[in-house]
Amino acid sequence: MSRFDIVIIGAGIAGASLAAEVAPHASVLMLEAEDQPGYHATGRSAAFWSETYGGPLIQPLTSASGPWLQDHGLLTPRGELYLARASEWGEVERMMAAFNGRVVMERWSVEQARRWLPGLSNDFAEALWMPSCTDIDVAGAHQLFLKGARQAGAELRCGAPLERAERMGSGWRLVAGGPVIEAGVLVSAAGAWADQVAALAGVPPIGIQPYRRTVVQLEVDPPAPADLPLVMAMDGSFYFKPEAGGRLWLSPHDETPDSPCDAAADELDVAVAIDRFEKAARWPIRRVERRWAGLRSFAPDRLPVYGFDPLEPRFFWCAAQGGFGIQTAPAAAKMAAALLLGRQVAEIDPAPYLPDRFRNGGSR
Ligand SMILES: Cc1cc2nc3c(=O)[nH]c(=O)nc-3n(C[C@H](O)[C@H](O)[C@H](O)COP(=O)(O)OP(=O)(O)OC[C@H]3O[C@@H](n4cnc5c(N)ncnc54)[C@H](O)[C@@H]3O)c2cc1C
Repeated sequence: MSRFDIVIIGAGIAGASLAAEVAPHASVLMLEAEDQPGYHATGRSAAFWSETYGGPLIQPLTSASGPWLQDHGLLTPRGELYLARASEWGEVERMMAAFNGRVVMERWSVEQARRWLPGLSNDFAEALWMPSCTDIDVAGAHQLFLKGARQAGAELRCGAPLERAERMGSGWRLVAGGPVIEAGVLVSAAGAWADQVAALAGVPPIGIQPYRRTVVQLEVDPPAPADLPLVMAMDGSFYFKPEAGGRLWLSPHDETPDSPCDAAADELDVAVAIDRFEKAARWPIRRVERRWAGLRSFAPDRLPVYGFDPLEPRFFWCAAQGGFGIQTAPAAAKMAAALLLGRQVAEIDPAPYLPDRFRNGGSR
C-alpha cells in the first residue's frame, strides 16, 4: 500500500499543471487511465491563446497565463480576426464593450481583411482585429508541467484508471489496478470523466457535459500564408488558422453533446465545415488531409470548477475547462493549488470558479 497527500485523477493539461504547482509542498500521485497522458482533449486542441475566447470571466485566467507561456517560449504571434455580417453589428459592439480596456481590439473594414483573404464573401461587412492572439505549443506546455511535477517528486502512473474510491478516516482508499492507494485528498482532473470520478467517490455530479468539437486539416490552393491570423466567424459558425506547410486547420465550431469517450470526427461535421469555409472564403480546397475530434467539457454555467466540494471536503474539483483549458492552465493551476493547499490566492479571485455555486442552493 502507498500513501500520498494528494492523488490527482487525470494527467491531461489540467492534472499535470496542478501537480506541478502542488508537488513542491505535498506528496502527489497522478493516475492516468491511458497509456500516455494527453491522449484526450489536451492532445486534440486547436492550440491558440485568445484573450476573448470563453468570455469576460475566462479572460483573467487567460491573460494571467500569458507571461508564463511567453517566458517558456511556448507562444508564437498569430493575431485574430473576427468576421461579422452587417446584421452582427450589435455583436461587435457588445464584444468591444465586454473587453473594453482589457483586450486590444480594432475595428477593421472588410478590405483590410482581404489582405489575407482575397476571396472573402461579400456577406461580411466588417472585421474586428485582436493582435494579442498567439499559437501555443501545447505538447511543449504539457511536457513542461509533467517534468516540473516529476522534478518536485510527483509520481505519474499511466494505464491506471481509478476504479474505486472509498472514504476512510481523514482520506481515501483508492483502487486503480494495483495495490490499494491511500490519499489525503482526491482531485478530479479527469476532463470529460470529471463527474464519473466524483460518482466513484460518492460525490454528487455537478453536471459537467462533454461536447464534441471537430477539426480538419486542409490542403488549400494557394497555400495558406504563414502570417494568416486565426479567423473566427462572429456568429460562431467556423474558425480556421494556418498550419505548417501552407495547410489550414478548420473547425465548424460544432458543439454536439456526447458521452465521455475516445471522440472521432463525424463525416457530417466535416462536410459542414467545408461548406461554411467555401461559402465564406471562396478558397479552393485540394484535399482533406486529416480530421479529428475531441471533447470540450463544460459545467452548466460554462465556467471551470476549481475548489473543494462543500459536500465532501476531501474531494477537490479541477474540471470543466471547456475550450480554454490550455490557454488558462498556468494561472488556473496556481489559483487551484493555493485553494488546495489552503494558502492565500494571490492574483485571481477564485469566487466565480468554486463548486459552491452548485451546492446548497448556490447562487447559480
Ligand atoms: C477540438 C478542440 C480544440 C480546442 N482548442 C483549444 C485551444 O485552442 N485553446 C485552449 O486553450 N483550449 C482548447 N481546447 C480545450 C482544451 O483542449 C481542454 O480544455 C483541455 O485539454 C482540458 O484538459 P483536461 O486535462 O481537463 O482534459 P483531458 O486532456 O481530456 O485529460 C483528462 C484525463 O483524465 C483521464 N481520466 C479520465 N477518467 C479517468 C480515471 N477514472 N482514472 C484515471 N484517469 C482518468 C483521461 O484519460 C484523460 O487523459 C480545445 C479542445 C478541443 C477538443
